[in-house]
Amino acid sequence: RASPAVVNQIAANGIAHHQDWYVHVRNLEQDMGWTPDSWTHAEARQLPTYPDSQALDAATTQLSSFPPLVFAGEARELTTELGKVSRGEAFLLQGGDCAESFAEFHPNNIRDTFRVILQMAVVLTFASKLPTVKLGRMAGQFAKPRSADTETINGVELPSYRGDNVNDIAFTPEARIPDPQRMVQGYSQSAATLNLLRAFATGGYANLHQVHKWTLDFMGRSPWSKKFADVADRIGESLDFMEACGINPDTVPQLKGTQFYTSHEALLLPYEQALTRQDSLTGDWYDTSAHFLWIGDRTRFEGSAHVEFLRGIGNPIGMKCGPSLEPDALLRLLDTLNPSRVPGRMTLITRYGHDKIEKGLPALVRAVKREGHPVVWSCDPMHGNVVKAANGYKTRPFERILAEVRGFFAVHRAEGTYAGGIHCEMTGQNVTECTGGAIAITEQGLADRYHTHCDPRLNAGQSLELAFLLAEMLNA
Ligand code: PEP
Ligand code: MN
Repeated sequence: RASPAVVNQIAANGIAHHQDWYVHVRNLEQDMGWTPDSWTHAEARQLPTYPDSQALDAATTQLSSFPPLVFAGEARELTTELGKVSRGEAFLLQGGDCAESFAEFHPNNIRDTFRVILQMAVVLTFASKLPTVKLGRMAGQFAKPRSADTETINGVELPSYRGDNVNDIAFTPEARIPDPQRMVQGYSQSAATLNLLRAFATGGYANLHQVHKWTLDFMGRSPWSKKFADVADRIGESLDFMEACGINPDTVPQLKGTQFYTSHEALLLPYEQALTRQDSLTGDWYDTSAHFLWIGDRTRFEGSAHVEFLRGIGNPIGMKCGPSLEPDALLRLLDTLNPSRVPGRMTLITRYGHDKIEKGLPALVRAVKREGHPVVWSCDPMHGNVVKAANGYKTRPFERILAEVRGFFAVHRAEGTYAGGIHCEMTGQNVTECTGGAIAITEQGLADRYHTHCDPRLNAGQSLELAFLLAEMLNA
């Protein structure tokens, strides 16, 4: 029996003749010969070279015996939710750290990011009257692609930092040697983070009755925190009204708790492969390191090992789409990654830059629409808008982030497609990494609390502000 993907490819190729059919089934099955390690035969960019291959084998063998972090059934449920987004029946909110770190691992950090995401989701749902799918860049977002293999500081050149599950950020030769045991530490931090997130989501913290308590103390200064309190008041009234009508909100699972999913860039393939398991129910392979995995802008080229790996897993997947992606290449990638055209399987995360999006995005949108691929279009207004401040800090001006979001909505409105989601780098902490916002952070102010291990993140106040501005755009 041919797999659904093969049957679909045959249908797409219009092969009618009976005998040809069987030949093609056989050829396609061979072409499609995916295995969890078939990526090792393709071109892999951005992977570390481990100096000790025995130590690498030991670490991946160890990881292969560890329990899955998420279940296949949960990943399928997320595909269904994202299918709704692809049809315009829900909105996707994906956010969290650029890079999680071992040093900043603390329950308060996890809680604060989680609650800003909850706040943002409430604002979006309240304004749009659509469900919000909540997807954290959390519990596994460790590995980072870099634009150069080395970095030079004061004339000293060392290998680049590639994320805490690869090497150490300290600028010494020893720290920058890739250490496979870091994957094991990344796994345990992910497991503990996920455990806490599951408890927050279902153990009472996310109960809508608590909506007032989600406001962070230090956000009192933001004008948006007053606006949030107003939304929270109105939600409280709605709940009271429901209760008066005889519906106890605490008996409604959707009000009593929430669904929260995890995601990260599937960059460090030895780690992802070690956590890829065959689902006992369907026989399909799932990467159990997170519910959702995405391919970065630097590894989404045709023939890439990362594309090869992701095409074989059953999870919903994302792909970053930057200015260098041609429409024809995108269509070929979609045929490879989603041959059966399952709604919710593919999320295209566009990241052009505030001044490029309106020029670049329409060609992709038209091609995908013409070919009828069901995708979620999500806007990453972060990665195309990095600038270097005069004092050397890497930052992202809030107004450019907003300009890209506006451009994204404008393009989808003009093309008749659905602007389905937002992908942002943010934290629940009161950091000073992106300039601007209601409590205007200046270039001088960046030095105050610049904590990121990689790219500059929106702080809690800026994230909430973005959610309110998005809500306006969703209603326009
Ligand atoms: C990221 O999301 O942190 C990232 C590196 O993005 P991109 O692949 O779009 O550059
Ligand atoms: Mn980043």
